[in-house]
Amino acid sequence: MKGKEGAFTKQMISLVIPVYNEEDTLPALMERIRPVMSEMERPYEIILVDDGSRDRSLEIMTGFAESPEVRVAELTRNYGQHAAILAGFSIVRGQIVVTLDADLQNPPEEIPRLINTMEEGGFDVVGTIRRGRKDSFFRILPSRIVNWVARKITGVRMTDWGCMLRAYRRPVVERMIACHEHATFIPALATHFGKRVTEIEVAHEERYGGKSNYSLRKLINLQFDLVASFSELPIKLIMYGGILLAVLGVCFGVVLAVARLVYGAHWAAQGVFTLFAILFAFVGLQFFALGVIGEYIGRIYREVRKRPEYVIERIYDGDLPQAGEGA
Ligand code: UDP
Ligand code: MG
Repeated sequence: MKGKEGAFTKQMISLVIPVYNEEDTLPALMERIRPVMSEMERPYEIILVDDGSRDRSLEIMTGFAESPEVRVAELTRNYGQHAAILAGFSIVRGQIVVTLDADLQNPPEEIPRLINTMEEGGFDVVGTIRRGRKDSFFRILPSRIVNWVARKITGVRMTDWGCMLRAYRRPVVERMIACHEHATFIPALATHFGKRVTEIEVAHEERYGGKSNYSLRKLINLQFDLVASFSELPIKLIMYGGILLAVLGVCFGVVLAVARLVYGAHWAAQGVFTLFAILFAFVGLQFFALGVIGEYIGRIYREVRKRPEYVIERIYDGDLPQAGEGA
């Protein structure tokens, strides 16, 4: 669609915001979103997904839901950021869907630029790159590793994997919901389902209040979600590694045999210890391999059980009785 047409048929925008223990930031978040959205002069809605918060977040959000453009989806427990976003996706009404974090690290003032880029360039997905990231070194370093590994392994070309301030067209969102995948990574999934994808730079701010919900354990989990749901590389690596080690083992055996012939039996007795060392290496490798295979089997098991990736307990809606399930 060209820019001109877009001006006549201004498409509705749905903001989807996952919220997990953000009582400190929610009021400020809404205060900053509202003027930005009303300035754009087009229909919009704000969908707040309560991802099982244990503080007063839900109470604050249901207060917001009094106004007609805000809806709150209450999940039954904490499902994780990406599942919460999917839950939000399932009830969107707009044609353009924008995701952002609740902690104000993604400035809402960047939303108009995202939309303009999408409409002027006719893109399906507009990703973002965080300019001047305001996080601690210990939060940035793992992300750098995540970004690098993610790019290498999945082959999905995305510069900054962690920034959730992104815009998707409705069909892309619907394709993502239709996946029914557990343990997924939304930005990567979107690049699979959008044909025209682009990235722009956006500002990044300090967390407004509270603290990051991602511990190192959660980050490692997310990383494995990413790797395991988009590639079988870990399994292949083990296979290649196993083959390589086997070949090396045989070569080493030959070397030992030759040395035995050259230096005699006395020398070979010491070689027993080398063999022990090799054995230990193999045992270690096997355990590692079992661990990775176990990880995959665990994931298969989770998929097979077909548990829903999220359950919406209730939708708080100011004007309309109850939203129908999306997709
Ligand atoms: N979040 C969520 N469920 C979780 C963890 C986080 O919905 O289990 C939300 C959180 O409320 C925030 C966003 O996801 O809106 C990003 O979380 P956070 O700021 O803690 O992550 P970071 O910025 O450190 O990556
Ligand atoms: Mg954050």
